[in-house]
Amino acid sequence: MALIVQKYGGTSVGSVERIQAVAEKVKTFKEQGHDIVVVVSAMSGETNRLIGLANQISEMPTPREMDVLVSTGEQVTIALLSMALNKLGVDARSYTGPQVRIVTDDAYMKARIQEIDTKNMRADLDAGRVVVVAGFQGVDGSGNITTLGRGGSDTTGVALAAALKADECQIYTDVDGVYTTDPRVVEKARRMDKITFEEMLEMASLGSKVLQIRSVEFAGKYKVPLRVLHSFKEGAGTLITIEDTDAVEQPIISGIAFNRDEAKLTVQGVPDIPGVASKILGPVSAANIEVDMIVQNVAADGNTDFTFTVHRNDYKKTLNILQDVAKQLGAREVKGANDIAKVSMVGVGMRSHAGVASKMFECLANENINIQIISTSEIKISVVISEKYMELAVRALHTAFGLDADDKDGE
Ligand code: ASP
Ligand code: MG
Repeated sequence: MALIVQKYGGTSVGSVERIQAVAEKVKTFKEQGHDIVVVVSAMSGETNRLIGLANQISEMPTPREMDVLVSTGEQVTIALLSMALNKLGVDARSYTGPQVRIVTDDAYMKARIQEIDTKNMRADLDAGRVVVVAGFQGVDGSGNITTLGRGGSDTTGVALAAALKADECQIYTDVDGVYTTDPRVVEKARRMDKITFEEMLEMASLGSKVLQIRSVEFAGKYKVPLRVLHSFKEGAGTLITIEDTDAVEQPIISGIAFNRDEAKLTVQGVPDIPGVASKILGPVSAANIEVDMIVQNVAADGNTDFTFTVHRNDYKKTLNILQDVAKQLGAREVKGANDIAKVSMVGVGMRSHAGVASKMFECLANENINIQIISTSEIKISVVISEKYMELAVRALHTAFGLDADDKDGE
């Protein structure tokens, strides 16, 4: 018998029939003797619909009222799910965020959870009830309704699991787990049984959008085992957990992420003197443009090239900024490209294995793919390549590193 927090996403509660199916599922867990706290999202499309209504009235609705509005989506699903459970003879009770007392700061639309009162939930669990909590919402110190940012129900689930010291937080969604890479690009992508919080953060921030990133950070911080599962298909899903340092054999690479949203810019022939990097990037960050990879070359003849990447949407803006900077610095030229893609291999196994980078580069060379930028961290190697070779690169690497579904060590 365990205490389990189960979070069901919008598609899983997208219709009355699905809500009834979720209720059946929750009932099964309850009958196995577990204590269950359920967190639900709004019905799929509902949050967008509400935002649409607000935008018909104002381009910039008051944030406080926005949160009063969008939090209603989850209030509908907690009530309907509790009714469906009651109908099945399962004692259940719904709670909005403020009713639980999920206390947040007052940053409307992107509030952060500060404290959770577990008293009401505990009392219901002790009385044998299923507790159904609205995801995505809380209350600030002055009693105002707040929301946690899009996709925030994942974070509610993890935060409740941490506060209740649950045995596991299960995220039920419309995919059956986290894959080694996007199955739409690599047919042989494989569901991972396990992945570490760190790896998941690298994968998530690179485009594997299964979970809200904040929920993974939260789970890692409080060491809440997190499992991603399909709502209506059998299967163990993917467990996101702490690193198993005792594992006999770690896979070297856990997954391959990619992203087409970047652009690269190069300031050529800048004087190789102190302060240049800050003179180039200062105005960029002052314009609120986020920089991802940064590379500066070894200087030849006292001049160097300085390259970095930004989000593709910021490409033009950055180019304009750099034209001015280049003039001030006496740089030769500014160049850029927005037809690039970033491919990253992620794996905690890299820490203890040499040669991962060279194997990656060899694999890309065999496919005749030119590498434009390389960057590495302890558990990640990223390369920037031409966008048109991205899928080829991901497929080739997936095979080269033994990640394909039909490989013997796979499943
Ligand atoms: N309903 C909210 C959204 O659509 C929260 C969530 O689904 O996690 O962003
Ligand atoms: Mg979601």
